[in-house]
Amino acid sequence: MPASPPSPTPGPLDVSPIPILSDNYAWRLRDNRSGAVAVVDPADAGAVIARLEREGGRLDLVLLTHHHDDHVAGALEVARRFGAPIAGAAADRHRLPPLDLALQEGDRVFLGDTSGVVIDTPGHTRGHVSFFFGDGPVLFCGDTLFSLGCGRLLEGTPEEMFGSLRKLSALPDDTLVCCGHEYTDSNARFALSVLPDNAALRERAAEVATQRASGTPTVPTRLVAERAANPFLLAPDIPSLAAFRSRKDSFR
Ligand SMILES: [Zn+2]
Repeated sequence: MPASPPSPTPGPLDVSPIPILSDNYAWRLRDNRSGAVAVVDPADAGAVIARLEREGGRLDLVLLTHHHDDHVAGALEVARRFGAPIAGAAADRHRLPPLDLALQEGDRVFLGDTSGVVIDTPGHTRGHVSFFFGDGPVLFCGDTLFSLGCGRLLEGTPEEMFGSLRKLSALPDDTLVCCGHEYTDSNARFALSVLPDNAALRERAAEVATQRASGTPTVPTRLVAERAANPFLLAPDIPSLAAFRSRKDSFR
């Protein structure tokens, strides 16, 4: 039997995807103790504002993983609507919406009674960052790590992506992986082409097919499940990751 998808987080943090654009996810994170709310990559202001209004009309923090329009386009409008600060990578401040908090690796972002740490994750873009909240534990990894895949190397090198994935892979087993796109179905087909005998992957691919057939998001997933089935996390070295990534770029 395929594992059931992770249930809504029962702990101090509650996380929920907000489907936007054609296949993006913005994410809503709430600290249940204080009620404080953050959104990650709110590219579609209308959809994100509507969700936040439905849930009480509170927003305390906007987090940006990287500068691409399908992650940041609505950020300023969302932030202004609720008077929330925008946080993103200092290294990319010249091409991000105006930042109230310019972040470097190891910096903390505070949300009510909790906080997250900034992890540099270059590869997809040079200034890409991820956010890890240990209280979840929850990871927002933008276009670095996807379920069963990883981001295209648009600016970075295989070496950078390998290093970024190594850092994320070292996070706790039960970390909820909240990525920027619904790419899992296509990623599963590619992953099966390179790891046809991986039992965890075959089980996950069947689960993904069921989820997509019913219109259910395939994310978040648990990091432990990604480590078992994601070819880019299973790649033992940089050349293997580079080979998988270039094959995926032309995979149909
Ligand atoms: Zn991107």
